[in-house]
Amino acid sequence: MIGVLALQGDYEKHIQILDLLKIQSMEIRYPSEMDKIQGLVIPGGESTTMTDLMGRNDFYQPIQKFAKDFPILGTCAGLIMMASSVPDSRVKPLGILDIEVDRNAYGRQIHSFTDQLPIKLDDSETHVPSTFIRAPKITNMSSNVEVISKYEGDPVAVRQGHHIGLSFHPELDNVTVFHDYIFKKQLWKKTSLKHHAA
Ligand code: GLN
Repeated sequence: MIGVLALQGDYEKHIQILDLLKIQSMEIRYPSEMDKIQGLVIPGGESTTMTDLMGRNDFYQPIQKFAKDFPILGTCAGLIMMASSVPDSRVKPLGILDIEVDRNAYGRQIHSFTDQLPIKLDDSETHVPSTFIRAPKITNMSSNVEVISKYEGDPVAVRQGHHIGLSFHPELDNVTVFHDYIFKKQLWKKTSLKHHAA
């Protein structure tokens, strides 16, 4: 079962992508619901509002703890929330990805656009449509963060351990590769490893 953080933003679109992949999912509104899930999506929306709602519902520690064992996929505002550093005092990120993120960095020039992006996941390379809406820019990252896609020379999709963060919105273009990779392929590897160890 995969959870989609449903405090604010376009969480319903992520549920639809998981449905397309036949992955069972549930909306997460309280930390206690996280006992039932083995992966989490933090959707796009507004990171200032998400900061506020995550604080009110006491989500910070539970998500940080969850991240140690299970994969998290963050898109757009979700990527901002997964960062370690966001130079905006209204946003308190979770510190799950060792990246620094500049909010709305793409939005100042163009508010919203869709383009094709090359995606490199393990050995396979594909192209997917990608929609950027007042998207964040990754301005700094540590060496353990792997870039899986770039747009005009800047990283827009990154992976660190079992987590993935994206500046754009795959869920708006029915792009399933990221959800498939992180929740089916990677999780399968992880559960089989756990099984092995037990
Ligand atoms: N600009 C938004 C923020 O800073 C993110 C936009 C989005 O998620 N599409 O939170």
